[in-house]
Amino acid sequence: MSAKLLEGKFFAAALKEEAGKKAEEIRNKYGVNPGLAVIIVGENPASQVYVRNKHKGCTELGFYSEGVEMPETTTREELLAEIHRLNNDPKIHGILVQLPLPKALQPYESEVLEAIDPLKDVDGFHPVNVGRLVTGQKALIPCTPHGCIRMLELAGIPIEGKHAVVIGRSNIVGKPMLHLLLSRNATVTICHSRTANLAEITKQADILVAAVGKPRFVTPDMVKPGAAVIDVGINRIPHPEDSTRTKLVGDVDFEAVKEVAGAITPVPGGVGLLTIAMLMQNTVIAAELQLAK
Ligand code: NAD
Repeated sequence: MSAKLLEGKFFAAALKEEAGKKAEEIRNKYGVNPGLAVIIVGENPASQVYVRNKHKGCTELGFYSEGVEMPETTTREELLAEIHRLNNDPKIHGILVQLPLPKALQPYESEVLEAIDPLKDVDGFHPVNVGRLVTGQKALIPCTPHGCIRMLELAGIPIEGKHAVVIGRSNIVGKPMLHLLLSRNATVTICHSRTANLAEITKQADILVAAVGKPRFVTPDMVKPGAAVIDVGINRIPHPEDSTRTKLVGDVDFEAVKEVAGAITPVPGGVGLLTIAMLMQNTVIAAELQLAK
């Protein structure tokens, strides 16, 4: 293996420690403990695991944590009423609605996310926070792309003046990643499903971010030797040795690409671990913004 392995656990620990210290400052300054509420509607097993991990993250740092479990049959009005209640609860500084919503509520997803007070929007999906990020103002920033940037910085991988290529243009990962890289003075190219000659572009990247949602999509011929490769993808594929199980793989063909890249994140054990650490950071930032008002 030639690439340096960027293991998420080390960076996640550093980012959680940072959040813990900031939380302590808030407790000392305001006598208030940061609080996070996570709303989950329905019984999606993957979402339940994510929500449990978020609660665990809060407990580890001594935050106040509230899990709001709502049935699959929840109506738009009931969900909006719950968000409204949490918007007005002074114990809660961060509100997160776990996605995806059940099918019947999906047409209201934007309305639901926009109902969250922008100061409590720890996912950073509210248009106010999106606009603040794009215009370079202080914002609550989506956790996964922000975690990737913080990891690059902590790993000492230079960003300024480098060519960063992001594959994927989603609101959750690709687009915020573009703005975060730009704000650090990278030259950024965004690729997507209609991009022509993708490999020709990705091969120019000093930093290559894959957020595609397709297993082992990035192959060695798409990677410039020595590039930093950040794999955001989480894909479940049938287990090669056991048909009763599945296996997690990223959007990068890790085994092959690690022979070409200069640094690479594994899946599992890479970027995924940073998301919760950044959620803890956002909860503290949100608390600070509200308490300073
Ligand atoms: P998405 O489906 O919303 O977006 C995928 C993007 O990939 C689209 O913009 C599309 O244009 C692009 N794309 C699809 N096919 C392509 C092709 N052939 N060539 C080039 N581009 C192509 O997905 P998302 O929400 O951005 O998530 C991407 C991946 O990251 C998924 O695997 C998801 O599970 C994972 N993810 C992980 C975390 C985490 O680690 N915590 C968080 C969010 C998403």
